[in-house]
Amino acid sequence: EHNKNFSSLISVIRKIQFDFLRIDPTLLDLPQIVVVGGQSSGKSSVLEHIVEKDFLPRGINMVTRCPLILHIQRVAIPNPEFPNENVTEWAVFSHLDKTFTNFNDVKKEIERFTNILTQPFHVSSEPIDLTFYLPNVPELTLVDLPGLIQVPIKGQPEEIVEEIENLVKKYISNENAIILAVIPANEDFALNQAIKMSSKVDKAGDRTIGVLTKIDIMNKGTDVIEILNGKVYPLKLGYIPVINRSQKDIDDKVPIEKALEKEKKFFEESEIYEDISKQCGTTYLTQKLSSVLLKHIKKVLPSVIEQIRRTKKTCKENLDKYGGLDSIITFTSAEQQCTLLIQKFTSYLISMIRGVPDKVS
Ligand code: GDP
Ligand code: MG
Repeated sequence: EHNKNFSSLISVIRKIQFDFLRIDPTLLDLPQIVVVGGQSSGKSSVLEHIVEKDFLPRGINMVTRCPLILHIQRVAIPNPEFPNENVTEWAVFSHLDKTFTNFNDVKKEIERFTNILTQPFHVSSEPIDLTFYLPNVPELTLVDLPGLIQVPIKGQPEEIVEEIENLVKKYISNENAIILAVIPANEDFALNQAIKMSSKVDKAGDRTIGVLTKIDIMNKGTDVIEILNGKVYPLKLGYIPVINRSQKDIDDKVPIEKALEKEKKFFEESEIYEDISKQCGTTYLTQKLSSVLLKHIKKVLPSVIEQIRRTKKTCKENLDKYGGLDSIITFTSAEQQCTLLIQKFTSYLISMIRGVPDKVS
């Protein structure tokens, strides 16, 4: 229910964003959700579980070698490219003129294109841009990044540690990014690289969510309760414990839906987590992301509206300054578009105060 409301809300923003593209594409940037963490901490797993799709290449060593920007777009109707098949889920890369309907082929294309963008043992800041068209999902942009490492392994250049750090920093420094700091619960928290990195760019801790992975394989007798209670390293947005698929689950091709059920059951039936099981797991993580995103939108709206007003004013001034016929036509239409946008925003704001977004034409 929560996610459904969120989706329609984001859809409204998307439509408005589409209108913005005609005036200034930078006016309204929705936050990207960026995963940060050490190699094999579970970053790709967390992303896959959020979107409930098995599509990311896996393996030992450095598999993710360039950023993967994943846009999730909600679609209500089957893909019209395939009139005879009922294609309700598909994927498109920005570098390829092709519609993927098989997510295993998506995985292969990510591998192929990664090898074109980067040499083995190296990273590249050049991203792979991918859009998923799915029914019933919240519309989000998620970014998968290469994992932070402590030392170069054989074959890797000396600079690799720093190269990865710089790449990660570049993506999470953006004030508009929400950081998912992925922390394996079976490792020592004090040594964690994700928190170390995110605390450098998000000093106030306003936009970092701690995601504690591998709860299922923690040392018996240990738990993450102290971390969840903010007694170890408090984060304003808090921590969420999750359980992703183990390597064996992946090898056995356990479907993600199954894994999500198992995760839910684990927390509900665990003596340690049963009382807080509603604040555990991937479903809760998605809800949390939705509400964080919503808060962000509420926060930035006034300044977006201010920017539109300013654009409108500039248009008017320009119009007064150069009164030529051609310019009158261009400026007038730009001004009309601004007015229209302000109207849309006002109706959007009203609807948001009411709680349910109105349709935007
Ligand atoms: P990344 O390098 O950070 O992207 O990590 P991956 O998502 O590829 O995961 C690394 C390994 O840890 C894989 O073998 C996963 O199956 C395993 N893994 C990730 N999360 C969990 C978890 O919550 N529980 C268990 N048992 N294994 C996990
Ligand atoms: Mg990965």
